[in-house]
Amino acid sequence: MVNDFIKVKCPDCGNEQIVFRKAATKVTCLVCNSVLVAPKGGVGEIKGEVLEVVG
Ligand SMILES: [Zn+2]
Repeated sequence: MVNDFIKVKCPDCGNEQIVFRKAATKVTCLVCNSVLVAPKGGVGEIKGEVLEVVG
């Protein structure tokens, strides 16, 4: 099974945020607005550091 939610650490400010991995639109950091996940061929391209898979 694929886990779709992951905790990502923002590469710019270090904010830890739970994001939807298969986002159809880009997901930005709530603190600094940096892009954390960019949509790419149906699977999000993770820009930050993946800390853990949430579920
Ligand atoms: Zn940030």
